[in-house]
Amino acid sequence: MSVLLNRAQDILKTVFGFSSFRPGQETVIQHILDHHNTLAVMPTGGGKSLCYQVPGLVMDGTAIIISPLISLMKDQVDALQANGVSAAFINSTLSHQEQQDIMNQLIQGDLKFVYVAPERFESFEFTNAVKKIPLSFIAFDEAHCISQWGHDFRPSYRSIVRNIEEMDIGCPLVALTATATDQVIEDIQSLLNISPEQVINTGFSRSNLHFRVERGVKKGNFIKSYVTSKRNESGIIYTPTRKTTDQVYTWLVDNGFSAARYHAGMSEQERLEAQNDFIQDDVSIIVATNAFGMGIDKSNVRYVIHYGIPMNIESYYQEAGRAGRDGEVSECVLLFASSDVQLQKFLIEQSIMNEAQKKQEYEKLHAMVQYGFTKQCLQRYILDYFSDPNGVDKCGTCSNCLKSEELVDMTKEAQMILSCVKRMGERFGVSLTAKVLKGSKGQKIKEFGFHQLSTYGLLSHYKEADINTLIQQFIADGYLAVQHGQFPTIKLSSKSYEVLKGEEKVWVHAKTEKVERTEQFDEGLFEYLRGLRKRIADENGYPPYVVFSDATLKDFCRLIPTSREEMLQVKGVGLRKWDEYGETFLGSIQAYIEKNGPIEKVEIDTKPIEPVTPKRSAPTHPDSSPSHIVSYHLFRDGMSIGEIAKERGITKLTIENHIFKAYQDGYELDWTLFFDEDTEELVLEKHALLEDNKLKPLKELLPEDISYTAIKAVLVKNGII
Ligand code: ADP
Ligand code: MG
Repeated sequence: MSVLLNRAQDILKTVFGFSSFRPGQETVIQHILDHHNTLAVMPTGGGKSLCYQVPGLVMDGTAIIISPLISLMKDQVDALQANGVSAAFINSTLSHQEQQDIMNQLIQGDLKFVYVAPERFESFEFTNAVKKIPLSFIAFDEAHCISQWGHDFRPSYRSIVRNIEEMDIGCPLVALTATATDQVIEDIQSLLNISPEQVINTGFSRSNLHFRVERGVKKGNFIKSYVTSKRNESGIIYTPTRKTTDQVYTWLVDNGFSAARYHAGMSEQERLEAQNDFIQDDVSIIVATNAFGMGIDKSNVRYVIHYGIPMNIESYYQEAGRAGRDGEVSECVLLFASSDVQLQKFLIEQSIMNEAQKKQEYEKLHAMVQYGFTKQCLQRYILDYFSDPNGVDKCGTCSNCLKSEELVDMTKEAQMILSCVKRMGERFGVSLTAKVLKGSKGQKIKEFGFHQLSTYGLLSHYKEADINTLIQQFIADGYLAVQHGQFPTIKLSSKSYEVLKGEEKVWVHAKTEKVERTEQFDEGLFEYLRGLRKRIADENGYPPYVVFSDATLKDFCRLIPTSREEMLQVKGVGLRKWDEYGETFLGSIQAYIEKNGPIEKVEIDTKPIEPVTPKRSAPTHPDSSPSHIVSYHLFRDGMSIGEIAKERGITKLTIENHIFKAYQDGYELDWTLFFDEDTEELVLEKHALLEDNKLKPLKELLPEDISYTAIKAVLVKNGII
């Protein structure tokens, strides 16, 4: 390791309090230290700031950081100052005098980092000063803004490049971004003269984000129980319209939750206050339209809920990605209702785009809708969307990975529901249909004569609410279509007929106990330290996460440090922060323990958390099992014969034989998956007419819709073959 890189390691620990680099950081730093123009593409929260802050401290001279977002500059400068680094920003929020003071410090060489908006390079005074002082490098944060192919092009950003070239200062240029397509990357490369070897792209994957899709839930109820369970934690609730923002916000406040709201219909002053309250942890929740979030670096956002689907995956990932910048586990929940799709379609239809653009937007919307339907790993789905080959196939933490083992076959129920919809004339809504299937006795049922339908009461053993949910899920999966309007009605879709004909099986995620993702740390102490952090932050005028991040507080609660040395072991505690707050936090931890009794330390693994890949075949059915037992277990775990055949690369017929052989070996089998009682009776009856156990003649005696598989199953079950 080079001397300089050693020095970088040292700074990482003593200044920033971290013991290891995140993926990509070390390489980027090495390139900058070698004076190469460098481009770092890393996901939000990947740690791009340290990529230039660490070398900036190793190298001589001042680093100029160009940032398109004024609100971010203060944040970054606060954070650097809190770590004892001399840094400042120059932008229009400062008075002339303040700007002058900073210019003086700059010329004196007193600043290691100066953050500026792109326009600053149009100021002769500034460029003149910059030419005179030694520079370590010039960095472009949010570098995608430089490219006209990016989704956030800023012409003023692009024009600086020319100014810098004219200044002929000869220091390296560093570009950093989270959102760059290949086209944008190429554009940045050619503008800033960055060779391909100096592009470090770590992909989009963010393993600390746990994605979750909730379909067909009552959104109000969901929000209520969710925010109750996350009381005091910071979260963003994105709503598709201003009206919904207001409704959800009012509801939260009326119910005693600490919330703010943010949308473009509010005055600038109101928006600023709302944003500050959220950043300062004065309120826990912010309800907002997509107008909120640009330029917010708040690291301790623990969840982002989308109340309805956004336009496309790009927007979704950007908004959801505002959770968990500190690398701690955070949740991104999408509340999905088929009716929300209509709103997005309407917005596309109403827009001023031309037909070709509209078509593209529809395609993007379609990919977003598929995200709500897919049974695939949600992380993987997103990465595939961005053509990112990195990352795991199964994150093991998203709602699909957690549920994938619990799919149940609901084909029969689906057939009952579909035929009920058909019999009701395809002119009624979800709730009346559920009532008919439940066998309720309401006025309307009588009025329309629904109690005489053959489907009346077919699902009486289910709760009405569950029938409702099932219907909603079938709508979401496209097994039923919705006629939109003030009173939406349901009707059959082309997929319905496939189900009714038995050509398609319907799988539903089994209702499971909510998976509690509890983390190991003392929550009482965490709350206590959060309070302390908030008081210190308010006194200093910092956002609380600048004092210590959530990640650091949680480590305090796990490691229970009792000395300076132990305190410095905690991630996020550098020398400066130890000097500033170390004693105070040590004292508070001690005081808390004296009052509440000792807390057991949790041994923490310092290795980065690897996403777990659930092994479908372990532990009950290791791959070393005989082949037919492997197939049997996959089948029992909910895969269809076709899916198993595909996965194992064996024919369906063989898989069937595997499953039956397993049964003959003594394994249990749910025969209702193969045939119903009537079929069994019929098969046995016809079998009695034949002399041997050959399938073909038997099949010919039976109705066409009884398959070979069903026939064979009946014979196996009854010990005939
Ligand atoms: P980005 O700009 O890539 O979105 P930031 O630079 O804001 O991300 O970093 C996100 C968070 O990750 C910050 O809270 C930062 O302190 C933390 N972080 C960065 N690098 C490391 C590291 N090597 N170890 C632990 N935490 C880190
Ligand atoms: Mg950043």
